[in-house]
Amino acid sequence: MTFPLSPADDAALDVLRRVFGYDAFRGPQQEIVDHLIGGGDALVLMPTGGGKSLCYQIPALVRPGAGVVISPLIALMQDQVDALTAVGVRAGFLNSTQGLDARRRVEADFLAGELDLLYLAPEALGNGYTQQLLDRGKISLFAIDEAHCVAQWGHDFRPDYLALSMLYERWPEVPRIALTATATSATRAEIATRLGLTGARQFVASFDRPNIQYRIEAKREPRKQLLELLRTEHPGDAGIVYCLSRASVDKTADFLVANGVAALPYHAGLDGATRARHQQRFLREDGLVMVATIAFGMGIDKPDVRFVAHLDLPKSVEGYYQETGRAGRDGLPSTAWLAYGLQDVVQQRKMIDRSDGDRAHRRSLAAHLDAMLALCETVDCRRVQLLNYFGQASGPCGNCDTCLTPPQSWDGTVAAQKLLSTVLRLHREHNQKFGAGHSIDILRGRRTDKVAQYGHDALSVFGIGADLGEAEWRGVVRQLLAQGLLAVEGDYGSLVLTEASTEVLRRERAVPMRREPERRAASTRTAKGKPAAVELPPEAEPVFERLRAWRAASAKEQGVPAYVIFHDATLRQIATEAPTTLEELSRISGVGENKLAKYGEQLLGALAC
Ligand code: ADP
Ligand code: ZN
Repeated sequence: MTFPLSPADDAALDVLRRVFGYDAFRGPQQEIVDHLIGGGDALVLMPTGGGKSLCYQIPALVRPGAGVVISPLIALMQDQVDALTAVGVRAGFLNSTQGLDARRRVEADFLAGELDLLYLAPEALGNGYTQQLLDRGKISLFAIDEAHCVAQWGHDFRPDYLALSMLYERWPEVPRIALTATATSATRAEIATRLGLTGARQFVASFDRPNIQYRIEAKREPRKQLLELLRTEHPGDAGIVYCLSRASVDKTADFLVANGVAALPYHAGLDGATRARHQQRFLREDGLVMVATIAFGMGIDKPDVRFVAHLDLPKSVEGYYQETGRAGRDGLPSTAWLAYGLQDVVQQRKMIDRSDGDRAHRRSLAAHLDAMLALCETVDCRRVQLLNYFGQASGPCGNCDTCLTPPQSWDGTVAAQKLLSTVLRLHREHNQKFGAGHSIDILRGRRTDKVAQYGHDALSVFGIGADLGEAEWRGVVRQLLAQGLLAVEGDYGSLVLTEASTEVLRRERAVPMRREPERRAASTRTAKGKPAAVELPPEAEPVFERLRAWRAASAKEQGVPAYVIFHDATLRQIATEAPTTLEELSRISGVGENKLAKYGEQLLGALAC
């Protein structure tokens, strides 16, 4: 497919409409596309699902030559190429997974000027053979996807990315665009420096993902809480469940399967073939739940992930936002749900204490954890807090748990004093340190074996906290930890005082706390911040199901993921508007020329029956 180089705007819009079937650019897409078509370099920050791909795909189609896309996600290149082929774009990839024949074919196409997009793994660029190949063909632009992989202290660092600064030295006349969904201003600066893009124009899209409902609740029985969420709000939906350890990934996947949820495990302890198979199934089949460590997910552009659940506390807000961003790329309502408890804080502090690296590194880890805890314990809108973290101001969103069911706050000063003085007494008078469980038993006046063994029922604080229940006390400990008024140390998570604790003990400081509702009301999708996405009218439901069945059969026949054929959002619109002619069908968002020609008649047939 080639497009005449008419005035940039028109050519770009034309490609957007004819090839991708979309009416208009989103956010800064148009500016970015124009800038690249004009030969400029760009650094693009856009949240997951924001629409980064079009920012380089369209200029690559408008400019002469092939757009070379550097991506670390080898396992996904085939799907990316399939999705482009489905809309009639000539795309190929070169990586280590491919046979010699396939490789030669792609190379020949590139040299003959018959590729619009060429995907490459970063390590391929280090090799002289690939460099010479690129020298012999025509390159329209370089796109560096997942550009945060160049950030050395980031969570996805890939050493191969450091070599990408050579793109400019070797091909100075080719425009470059680096894209990422993860970037505080510090990360952004690091990316620009390391990729030699300090002179590039920066485009920062809004980081808001209004269709995602953010919810964080106290951990009681996390697997059961998760199951309830899936049963009540997401039956049959595709989703991702993140756990910190491999063991808990396996246990959670087993638990879900035993309870009738189609779930698969994914972590670095599984062999490569199993991981690849599970990823393929997740992408291709409808309604699978992937239970995974954070090793899973980067670059997964499955548009209909309806929920992302975290059973353990993420290590940073950046990581959390990127992971939750994998929900709802299609713009339809989705849930980001996190269960978080005292044990998470204890465990993560322990991991930080033990981590390799110098003090500065540990301080940085601790700062990231603190920001995450602040998000968990906030009584304000979660989204305001999240966006603020990325430097974006906003107002209460109406679509997060704190907006929908505002938590009450209470004066926890006295409770804090009781707990802190228990810790103080154990330490001062007995030179002992204990974890939260035992300290709470003492406060609540429970004569457990351990209490008897140590004679702690003789302490003056024994039983002074009988007015609060176990869960409430755990909430108190958690919030004190989150506010830095208490700390944990050692293998058993022993509680110790901090400098700030003394201010509370001396009554110089009040401690406001958040009261956990016993059971948080399930989300109400009809709340005021309801995402713009449509609920299907009742008469369209069976039509939508029929279209889905048709899509599943076609996907299977062609061996591609269902969303490569059409996204849910497109099928929903078709079901609702019930077009009767090809002309009407072509006006639906997501129906471009190629798909219209390929599926138009079949779709009208499926609608008519
Ligand atoms: P990112 O790479 O930023 O996570 P994608 O490029 O995968 O996001 O885009 C997310 C979704 O939004 C995709 O399903 C894509 O087809 C859709 N999309 C992108 N731009 C537009 C647009 N201008 N109009 C309609 N849909 C769009
Ligand atoms: Zn909110």
